[in-house]
Amino acid sequence: MTGLLRNLASVATFGSADEERLHRRQRLAASFRLFAKFGFDEGVAGHITVRDPEHLDRFWVNPFGMKFGHIRVSDLICVDHTGTVVDGDAMVNAAAFAIHSQVHAARPDVIAAAHSHSLHGKTWSTLGRPLDPITQDACAFFENHAVFDEYTGVVLDLEEGKRIAEALGGNKAVILRNHGLLSVGHSVDAAVWTFITMDRSCQTQLLAEAAGTPVLIDPDMARQTYARVGSPVACHVSFGPLWDMITREQPDLFD
Ligand SMILES: [Zn+2]
Repeated sequence: MTGLLRNLASVATFGSADEERLHRRQRLAASFRLFAKFGFDEGVAGHITVRDPEHLDRFWVNPFGMKFGHIRVSDLICVDHTGTVVDGDAMVNAAAFAIHSQVHAARPDVIAAAHSHSLHGKTWSTLGRPLDPITQDACAFFENHAVFDEYTGVVLDLEEGKRIAEALGGNKAVILRNHGLLSVGHSVDAAVWTFITMDRSCQTQLLAEAAGTPVLIDPDMARQTYARVGSPVACHVSFGPLWDMITREQPDLFD
């Protein structure tokens, strides 16, 4: 089976919740390795979550304080809707719970959410502006991301998480002003791909605006291009090559 077919097959349904849970945890551990490889970690900041397939009010997340590049499947912890760790013996990052619990609660369709203080995402966030359709890749965000246009300190309060979820709305990503990016998806693959390509679109627009005035793709063409590069299926499939790379390079992530 080719890589593309194998990655499309990963959308398939599972025989049991245990099987699906393992699949999600493996995708999650691989995603932390990818975030480390892209340099998205900054101290203890950043979190990616995936909803448990059986207990829908629980999610799996990285243990607080562990380097993304060291995370294995067995290191992941599961947190319930009260913030109690129900699987694993590490602490959960308070901001991870405050933000992600509210996003997962507000968006039943969302399986996974990703947030970090990646360099280009947080730099772009200081401008308080949405991304423009200046490249084919940036069209993946055309009419499908929002700006949370305030900054009120480290997010430790559930009310603040709720307001971020409201700003996200039905979109696949939100730019948190003076903070960084947050993406969501119907799979870990889609949420993480969306985060990675969004950070690069931030970098592109920063570079382009430093050099001059970028030409915008017109709205009709941006919409058509979105359908090709920004749809949920496109985002899911685009993760495939990264999965193939990281699992080949770092098979200990499966431990
Ligand atoms: Zn943060």
